[in-house]
Amino acid sequence: MSEIISERPTNEQQATRARAVIPGGVNSPVRAFGSVGGTPLSIVSATGATVTDIEGRTYVDLVASWGPALLGHAHPEVVAAVQQAAARGLSFGASTPGEAELAERVIDRLTVDGTAALERVRLVSTGTEATMTAIRLARGATGRDLVIKFAGHYHGHSDGLLAESGSGVATLGLPGSAGVPAPIAAQTLVLAYNDLSAVEAAFAAHPDRIAAVIVEAAGANSGVLRPQPGFNRALSRLTAANGALLIVDEVLTGFRVGPAGWWGLEADGTISEGAGWTPDIVTFGKVIGGGMPLAALGGRAEVLELLAPLGPVYQAGTLSGNPLAVAAGLATLRLSDAEVYRRVDASADTVATLLHDSLEDAGVAHVIPRAGSLFSLAFRDEPVRDYADAKAQDAWRYPPFFHAMREAGVSLPPSVFEAWFLTAAHDDAALERIADALPGAARAAAAA
Ligand code: PMP
Repeated sequence: MSEIISERPTNEQQATRARAVIPGGVNSPVRAFGSVGGTPLSIVSATGATVTDIEGRTYVDLVASWGPALLGHAHPEVVAAVQQAAARGLSFGASTPGEAELAERVIDRLTVDGTAALERVRLVSTGTEATMTAIRLARGATGRDLVIKFAGHYHGHSDGLLAESGSGVATLGLPGSAGVPAPIAAQTLVLAYNDLSAVEAAFAAHPDRIAAVIVEAAGANSGVLRPQPGFNRALSRLTAANGALLIVDEVLTGFRVGPAGWWGLEADGTISEGAGWTPDIVTFGKVIGGGMPLAALGGRAEVLELLAPLGPVYQAGTLSGNPLAVAAGLATLRLSDAEVYRRVDASADTVATLLHDSLEDAGVAHVIPRAGSLFSLAFRDEPVRDYADAKAQDAWRYPPFFHAMREAGVSLPPSVFEAWFLTAAHDDAALERIADALPGAARAAAAA
């Protein structure tokens, strides 16, 4: 009797199978590796600082699920919390004790030196929903229509927020998206990031028509775009002076760059010249759900209580505040203490320094824009202040760099326009593998 040995499919076979039934073989565009080429990874498991693909290869991971895995993948206490919640039921479509606890924890976290940035928090399932709702809320609160966003910032994929967007829209080089009606696109004014005079000019040109400015707390979706010192504070002053709301999008930075997100770093003086302002609405995602679908928006009671059922702005969700997601988020926030942030910061320092040294040794022009523990790589000499700068780089050097890292067992974001993410699980062994991989990748970038 002949034994049938079932062979593991390759990444290529898996991608081919997926492309037959899923558009592009992916459920989110950047996963298709369009800008770096080659076969997308099909991941079957992840633990700590590593991910393992369908071929059984393990990589040191610098994607961290695009941010959520602050503690590392499959942290045992987070997994246990989700398992225990699952055993009690997957979804009730009713209030739960955990969701109030999570809202309390978020409010506590965003209280810095006695200043509470938030009074009310509503839980949703994705960052897209959080920002979409924040915009509706700002329009409901002000009775105005126009919204200012910044080029290269990504706030999810709702209609009005895709113009000159970062993330996959930047990776694919798209101006926006088909399917967005022109009258809706016209409600979004897109300005250059870090350009305060442009914001002043927009308020002057559209008096009493601008409902909100939405800004990434620190830009991290067209590579890292750090706010100039005092930029966020100035936005707060300008929005208040013009009767508009400031929506600070901390979906990516929230609970990742520090215990109170980027705002916390400004508020507690870690970022000099930043203190002295509070956002009107803050959006969260990623780390707040610890890897499960959970996001949130928060703000003052008078603003957030405009949401139904108290107010006229409608928002809802069958799976909002899902108990498994809440359990993962609560466990993640409970475990991410000062030591976690210290480790992530230190690892980011180490990797950014190794990256710089390798590229310098290989003679490759580069800068490493940095915002807290977030950093990215741009192949150019000059600093990156805005999206135009981010696009003006030798981006063609990234694919060979990326693939050399992959061959050496390190999984990077498959786009030069994405930040690199460390976790608290990146130990010395993981950092050594990155150190070993970088010089060869830098030489590959040099040869491109
Ligand atoms: N805002 C920011 C700043 C983001 O980085 C993202 C996702 N990368 C989003 C919003 C959208 O979040 P989601 O993918 O959960 O819809």
